Amino acid sequence: MSKGKVYLVGAGPGDTGLITVRGQYLLKNADTILYDHLSSPELLSLAKPSAELISVGKFAGRHTMPQAEINQLLVDKAKQYKMVVRLKGGDCYIFGRGGEEVETCFEQGVPFEVIPGVTSAFAAPCYAGIPPTHRDCTSNVAIVTGHRKKGDNRPIDIPIAGTIVFLMSVSNIENIISSLLAADFPATTPIAAVEHGTCYDQRSITGTLENFLDILEKKPLRTPALFIVGKVVEMKEKLDWFEKKPRILLLGISAERYRELGTIIHRPIISCRPIQNNAPLTNAVKSAGDYDWLIFTSANAIKFFFEALYANGLDSRTLANTKIAAIGKATARSLSNHGLRADICPKTESSTGLLEEFDRIDITGKKLLLPQARIATEQLPTGLTEMGADVTKIDAYKTIEVDPGEIDFDYIDQVLFTSGSSVHAFINKFGKLPENVKAICLGKPTQAIAKENGIDAEIVKV
Ligand code: SAH
Repeated sequence: MSKGKVYLVGAGPGDTGLITVRGQYLLKNADTILYDHLSSPELLSLAKPSAELISVGKFAGRHTMPQAEINQLLVDKAKQYKMVVRLKGGDCYIFGRGGEEVETCFEQGVPFEVIPGVTSAFAAPCYAGIPPTHRDCTSNVAIVTGHRKKGDNRPIDIPIAGTIVFLMSVSNIENIISSLLAADFPATTPIAAVEHGTCYDQRSITGTLENFLDILEKKPLRTPALFIVGKVVEMKEKLDWFEKKPRILLLGISAERYRELGTIIHRPIISCRPIQNNAPLTNAVKSAGDYDWLIFTSANAIKFFFEALYANGLDSRTLANTKIAAIGKATARSLSNHGLRADICPKTESSTGLLEEFDRIDITGKKLLLPQARIATEQLPTGLTEMGADVTKIDAYKTIEVDPGEIDFDYIDQVLFTSGSSVHAFINKFGKLPENVKAICLGKPTQAIAKENGIDAEIVKV
């Protein structure tokens, strides 16, 4: 008897923002996730810590697990768990063998649901500025697999359509082009390849059926990639948008507020962790009501402070008589999750900004509580002490270095430094800034630290 249900979820083509709301919900709540080699491995970080993550492979032409075994594993996992998510690249039913997977569920009495995904067949052209249909070009589009077993050189069946999108075709492009020509497509028909579609390192290459193979010789393709054939390819000249955006590497913890600056490649290199048996923090939350001011310099400080507060059976009412300062808008927003509002929130998000605000009021002899990261600089506590305040600085959490994964700097235009520590972390990890990459930062203190490290960073407004 099956205990649970299988959810076939389309992961989308690569850009993590393109998963559906329903898919995201299921990923967050799954007891186990069976996943392919995905264009967006970041999606797996949504899984709850206790979830069992199982890679079932599927690289071009190299399956780490035979399809029949994947099908059976789904059924077996549904006997073990309540919510089994099968995460598949793009859409589940476009060349993904999703149909076979739920057929096995059907045959063995396991309930299932299928959540469609954004298919690469339409998303990669879209991000390359190519609409698969357009009134001036064509009223129909076909999706074709160019995949053939090794050694099978028979021509590809070419459908009658104004636009044809070829998936799984990189190793067979020569055969595809000759099949198109044999099917009377003019040699001048436009063709485009889009590799790593919707990912930061997307690249597209355009040509015509007659010159495309020569072009590819000079620019070997990376997989995954697909081809688009038809007049719509000419629209790219006007409709390109994604490849024009600056590609910005961000190593900090949170990315949301920077999304409008460009394509954000979010690869945190530090992660915040609680400090075990943190007696100073426990004592601080218990006596938090005795302080005149509580100062937060990050959303993380808020997270760990309130976790400790709640763990000690207390809640926000403890702070009824304590004023609160937040370093910036995002930090102030995090306070609202606990029903609180900041009394001070400087316009310029920085320690300097906070000190300027405190300079306007008299804090002589006032008791200030400052829960911060263990590595926080002394600038703020020193400045506040110089104003005559009685400052208690607490290590609320620690930071550890984590692996940012592979980054191809050929496809990065800018690095955004959000703090001095992000400059140090970058240098530790990558040595120096590659020549083709520009540095940007949020404020003067970070700019100065970048300069000390030989990096000229331009200040940007967010
Ligand atoms: N179900 C998937 C397709 C699976 S077949 C979907 O709906 O997208 C795998 C093929 O999809 C690859 O060989 C490649 O042609 C194409 N593909 C998948 N992701 C891609 C991407 N990010 N960019 C370009 N092509 C991609």
